[in-house]
Amino acid sequence: MVNILAVNAGSSSLKFQLLRMPEEHVVAKGLIERIGLKEPIFSMTTNGRKLKLIEKIPNHQEAVQLLLHYLVDQRAVNSLNEIDGIGHRLVHGGEQYSDSVLIDDEAIKVFEQLSDLAPLHNPANITGIKEFNKVLPTVPAVAVFDTAFHQTMPESSYLYSIPYDYYKKYGIRKYGFHGTSHKYVSERAAQMLNRPLESIRLISCHLGNGASIAAIDGGRSIDTSMGFTPLAGVTMGTRSGNLDPALIPFLMEKTDKSAEEVLDILNKKSGMLGVSGFSSDLRDIEVEALKGNSRAQLALDVFANRIHKYIGSYAARMNGVDAIIFTAGIGENSDVIRSKVLAGLQFMGIYMDPDLNKIRGKEAFISFPYSPVKVLVIPTNEEVMIARDTVRLAIINKKIPKAL
Ligand code: ADP
Repeated sequence: MVNILAVNAGSSSLKFQLLRMPEEHVVAKGLIERIGLKEPIFSMTTNGRKLKLIEKIPNHQEAVQLLLHYLVDQRAVNSLNEIDGIGHRLVHGGEQYSDSVLIDDEAIKVFEQLSDLAPLHNPANITGIKEFNKVLPTVPAVAVFDTAFHQTMPESSYLYSIPYDYYKKYGIRKYGFHGTSHKYVSERAAQMLNRPLESIRLISCHLGNGASIAAIDGGRSIDTSMGFTPLAGVTMGTRSGNLDPALIPFLMEKTDKSAEEVLDILNKKSGMLGVSGFSSDLRDIEVEALKGNSRAQLALDVFANRIHKYIGSYAARMNGVDAIIFTAGIGENSDVIRSKVLAGLQFMGIYMDPDLNKIRGKEAFISFPYSPVKVLVIPTNEEVMIARDTVRLAIINKKIPKAL
């Protein structure tokens, strides 16, 4: 029995879960928000007990200290010696990593080089790694990448049709993200379908604030909707998803904005927020749509329409599909989006049962038993994947990492 801390360090937040493995029992979980900002919040649930505090947390170093203090204080562990491994989420592993990796000095150098590809995310993730290492230098740490699962994509999927030299010189290609989630739900889907993962073709729809679709053939990602960055693909909460790239210079000229400012609009003010004009949160949009707000209805339709088209295209890409998976906040909870996404797809063997579709937040089949293509709702669990990889690479293999 070992205790693994799964960590997701963002620029002003730190999400964590302490899992007892191999049982996969969640001992404690929580979130530190607004690090370095006004009124930082520390919240944690341990064995059903909730703690929520406003604390002084000027930086990640303090955040890590506080988290470790409360893990002991709230008796999640008796002492820090009981933490056997730490798994860190890293957004970008570039082409270097097609699997998680035990962290050592060399790995940190590579992560830092990769920050060029993910300047908004990797540096914060790396800060998290370094701060935990300062306090727990002897505890092995593993990095789990959002991009790793998609490294199986063939060249024909990941290359953009631009001069080939740019791929070689600058690493410009599709990387894809949400890989840990797509991998988790694809493995669960095989178990639920009671079929070997190697024999099935899946389309996984991860629909949260960020959203991506993946074509998973025999357990391998062969295409995905996000690209060089997480801005590409389907419409999202605040991100535009795919659009005509010629729009960028056009918008720069019309609005007198820099490329960076236009990119900021495409990342933060577009998607369902841009279309609805009032919110990026699907729950708000569903409420207003029900009241007859036409822009809210349009936002739902634009969102569902893009996902619907990806399902058609990925089914073609795999010469068929055995199951469609819905996961993440929207995929797990919104019957409205699921039914809009699948509307009219009976022609390709998808028959969703409107009664079963009412399910929220639980594993379930929502297709009729006779449907040739099954439809599954599977709550994602990225933390458990991080903990599993940490056990596999840091505990079972028992490699001793070189000092950081
Ligand atoms: P993130 O990408 O930030 O991890 P989540 O997976 O938490 O996002 O998903 C957030 C989205 O899920 C929001 O748009 C939210 O409105 C939506 N959502 C969460 N719960 C529900 C619900 N019960 N019904 C409809 N949408 C929901």
